[in-house]
Amino acid sequence: MNSNVVNAPKPAVQKSYPDLLIGLVGRGIQKSRTPKLHMEEGAAHGQRILYQILDVDQFPRGDRPLEAIIDAAEFCGFAGLNVTFPYKIDVMPLLDSISENARAIGAVNTVVFRDGKRIGHNTDKWGFEEGFRENMAGATLDHVLQVGAGGAGVAVAHSLSALGVKRLTIADSDHSRATGLQTLLKTSAPTTTVDVVTLDDIATLRPDGVVNATPVGMAKLPGSAYPLASLRPEMWVADIVYFPLETELLAAARAIGCRVLPGSGMAVYQAVRAFELFTGRTPDPMRMKATFESFVS
Ligand code: NAD
Repeated sequence: MNSNVVNAPKPAVQKSYPDLLIGLVGRGIQKSRTPKLHMEEGAAHGQRILYQILDVDQFPRGDRPLEAIIDAAEFCGFAGLNVTFPYKIDVMPLLDSISENARAIGAVNTVVFRDGKRIGHNTDKWGFEEGFRENMAGATLDHVLQVGAGGAGVAVAHSLSALGVKRLTIADSDHSRATGLQTLLKTSAPTTTVDVVTLDDIATLRPDGVVNATPVGMAKLPGSAYPLASLRPEMWVADIVYFPLETELLAAARAIGCRVLPGSGMAVYQAVRAFELFTGRTPDPMRMKATFESFVS
């Protein structure tokens, strides 16, 4: 036996595919769990993925225009980028083509560089939908209240419509965001009737389910955007916040017997679809979920 082979160091990843460079562009994203999701799934496939955080807040020479960042990533051989707050809309004019899905939602969270082209996708919508399908089968969808109509809320509202919600009521502390989303949904999700209420009116509603799509409930922003006193045991309650997984809203809802859906489903499944787009291979959602749950409490 060749002793060099016997003594050769074992590669960290049993390689079946060429190395892949991916990035996440956004602000304040140092603690993102997405890199680990992709790198660990890549390793399980025999592919070394280097997933680089491109946090514009941390650039040593200060702000750079988004266009310069996308140019640099493409030039440096990135296979693709995830795009997050505040760039999901701003990135759109910088792309060669945009999937029908992302165009309907009006936001891109995944960019693939392929054959000299930049292609934009939105995996947030499918992410929420898939998490909902997996965990909330049979949930009543006649009337749903969604609180929060920001970047993620736009994708969630499209998911709710695709899931079959008949009537969607939207509330946001910035009323213009709620009415803007209502206008968008008129053309992009015409099967759902959409109305808008003020935050004061929320307590008067008796929806089948509630979705929190605001940042309220995050560890750094405790509380609940939905009045806890309005919870009823027969309601289902979903939160897209995932740090912590059990927000005040979900804890209160669970305590009175509501069915609850934490934000982990959307977070994992948006990465599942993005992994497919970056690598062309199908990841194992359960393995990615286990990776996610290994570092989120
Ligand atoms: P955003 O800032 O774009 O939108 C938040 C919206 O909530 C804004 O329109 C704001 O006016 C509204 N809002 C804030 N406080 C409110 C309150 N008390 N009552 C009513 N409306 C209120 O943020 P975003 O990108 O949409 O993200 C929202 C949250 O979703 C964040 O916590 C983010 O971490 C989480 N998120 C989760 C996933 C996931 O995969 N689970 C994906 C994206 C975002």
